[in-house]
Amino acid sequence: MPLDIQSIREQFPILKRKVNNQELVYLDNAASSQKPQIVLDKIDSYYKTINANVHRGIHTLSQEATEEMENTRSIVKEFINASKTEEIIFTKGTTDSINLVAYSIQELIQPDDEIIISHLEHHSNIVPWQILAERKKAKLKVIPIDKNGDLILDEYKKLLSEKTKILSVNHISNALGVVNPIKEIIDEAHKYNAYVLIDAAQSIPHTPINVQELDCDFLAFSGHKMYAPTGVGILYGKEHLLEKMIPYQAGGEMIKEVTFEKTTYQTLPFKFEAGTPNIEANIVLGTAIEFIKSIGSKNIEQHEQKILHYLTDELEKLDDIIIYAKNAKSRAGAVSFNFNLNGISSSDVGFILDKQGIAVRTGHHCTQPIMHYFGISGTVRASFGVYNSTEDIDKLIQGLKKAYQMLK
Ligand SMILES: *Cc1c(COP(=O)(O)O)cnc(C)c1O
Repeated sequence: MPLDIQSIREQFPILKRKVNNQELVYLDNAASSQKPQIVLDKIDSYYKTINANVHRGIHTLSQEATEEMENTRSIVKEFINASKTEEIIFTKGTTDSINLVAYSIQELIQPDDEIIISHLEHHSNIVPWQILAERKKAKLKVIPIDKNGDLILDEYKKLLSEKTKILSVNHISNALGVVNPIKEIIDEAHKYNAYVLIDAAQSIPHTPINVQELDCDFLAFSGHKMYAPTGVGILYGKEHLLEKMIPYQAGGEMIKEVTFEKTTYQTLPFKFEAGTPNIEANIVLGTAIEFIKSIGSKNIEQHEQKILHYLTDELEKLDDIIIYAKNAKSRAGAVSFNFNLNGISSSDVGFILDKQGIAVRTGHHCTQPIMHYFGISGTVRASFGVYNSTEDIDKLIQGLKKAYQMLK
């Protein structure tokens, strides 16, 4: 059954506002999503009713805040089908989750070990591994892409060896919307006993994820791209690996006993949660997941696929348009394109669209290596959320026609 997009839209108050006297058309969901009323209500009720520090107090508010936060941990565990709540760590976001792994795994990396990433990664899945490689004198290898934006899997298989220690790739590219065949990628890496991290920042809002079925060793994602507030993210990690890793940050909450001679650490997941967390956002992430579950990840995926194909078809009717990764084997979440006009940048297009109330992302999308590959400085990217309708796409196309007339 198709989703009732009108009733979903009504749950997002921001969609009623005007931008430059036009109704807002929000197509920048890969950067951050908007928040539904139940999420906004939960933030409000948290501060009005149970605000207190967690895991510390004997008093009622502290206990209730702790219970709610631990309840969200269970909701996350079920949402991604992890086997234990010990494997669910609250972080600040995807960037923080990846940095945690790249730092805390250092004792397991030896000189000459190899770390594999791909050409399709967000900077936050490149730079932490460069730093780790430099620190441990390990080598960083990169899976190449082809002109469709697909990873070249034959080349990937050639990069794998007994030296491969970690592989970290995204599930869906934020810049191109390419969906990587992660099950196959994970299985290949495991033949060499390499650990695999999946950057799920762009997949968790759009498609069901099952970590046990995927058998990934780590999974990272952000709350703010899945209808939750900013400042919360999740790192899933297999328990036996997390046990072997050193703490990321040190301080309160992550210790069992502290003396000046020696400190012993808390058990999982608290070993990786030093200091007072973002309690409000951590709790409200659970509400956002309940919102997604009330619609169904599979239904969201189907709806957004419809939008993606509708947009691709309509874009192709325009003059002088280049759509990147149009022929990739599988796509989701976003479409990246440019006008093929000399001297016109993606931000020129974005500026004219904004004047018509249409929010898209322009520039390199934190993926400069992809831009270098295509020989461009940036793209215009339209990315989707559950509330986007075909009317949004019609308005975008009208806006692009106007931009073309002004720029050509
Ligand atoms: C957004 C994004 C990140 C970074 O997420 P933050 O929330 O900024 O930490 C990493 N990888 C991908 C694929 C992303 O889309």
